[in-house]
Amino acid sequence: MRKILFLLFFFLVFCLGCIKKDTTTFSPTIVVSSFPIYSAIKELAGEDFNIVLLQKPFVNAHFYEPGAKDIEILKNASVFIYTSEYFDVWAKKALNLIKQKNNNISVIDASEFTTLSQEGNSLDPHFWLSPKKYALFSSKVADQLTSNYPQLKTQILKNKEKFLKKLAELDRDFTQLKNCKQKNFFLSHMAFGYLASDYNLTQKAIIRSFEPSSSEVSLKYFFTLIKEAKEQNLKVVYFEIGYPQKISKIFAQETNSTVLYLDTLEYYEPLDLEQKEIYITKMKKNLYNLKKGLDCE
Ligand SMILES: [Zn+2]
Repeated sequence: MRKILFLLFFFLVFCLGCIKKDTTTFSPTIVVSSFPIYSAIKELAGEDFNIVLLQKPFVNAHFYEPGAKDIEILKNASVFIYTSEYFDVWAKKALNLIKQKNNNISVIDASEFTTLSQEGNSLDPHFWLSPKKYALFSSKVADQLTSNYPQLKTQILKNKEKFLKKLAELDRDFTQLKNCKQKNFFLSHMAFGYLASDYNLTQKAIIRSFEPSSSEVSLKYFFTLIKEAKEQNLKVVYFEIGYPQKISKIFAQETNSTVLYLDTLEYYEPLDLEQKEIYITKMKKNLYNLKKGLDCE
């Protein structure tokens, strides 16, 4: 009897082993440079992918530098997507470092999916702040991902269709800005040029650069801007979330204007990574504050 029980036990254990579910499901990893890319790829790739964001929370992407761990991640990546060399200025150097170790990496420069406008010697990298340009980027990057991952094509195309629909709705909402009485908006750095041009507005940046780090704010320009703001009876100045506001504070005091916030998506907090439709949510907040500050109907 004992022998039979032992055999039965052995048989049960053996069979449990047989039916044990295979947990090694296909879950490819896409590495992305910064939050503006993450917020699209999360929607387009969906649950089947593991998306690794290199930019750390609480750090503005303009100031982010990859560490040794990030380089290790890139060494093992199959797909890496970055915004452009004008925003993720570290990306090309990092890719050079891993060139010998990872020949199979597929590198996607997002700016190749859109046109960047030029001012002086610089190109404006902030394409993601225009819902129109972001839709174009999202559409093209999704198509690229279907060739990287043909086995997940159906899922990616389904996600793409859903996201593009949301972006088209967002673009329609933003057209309300065309009715604003105030056409100029004053902000920290030149991040919203594409958005302004899409909806007939003009951005007036306190730091006249595509880089918020530019410390070369000439006093002459600063006082000209204050004069202009006073002449236009400015009521609101926009601060940027996650960026030191020192010079903007002086501007707000000098022009006696109240402060509203704009989100450039260059900065994020850990909870943002878990939120669904984070791009849509953040851009709707931007729209709300723009309408509030620019006297829109
Ligand atoms: Zn910027």
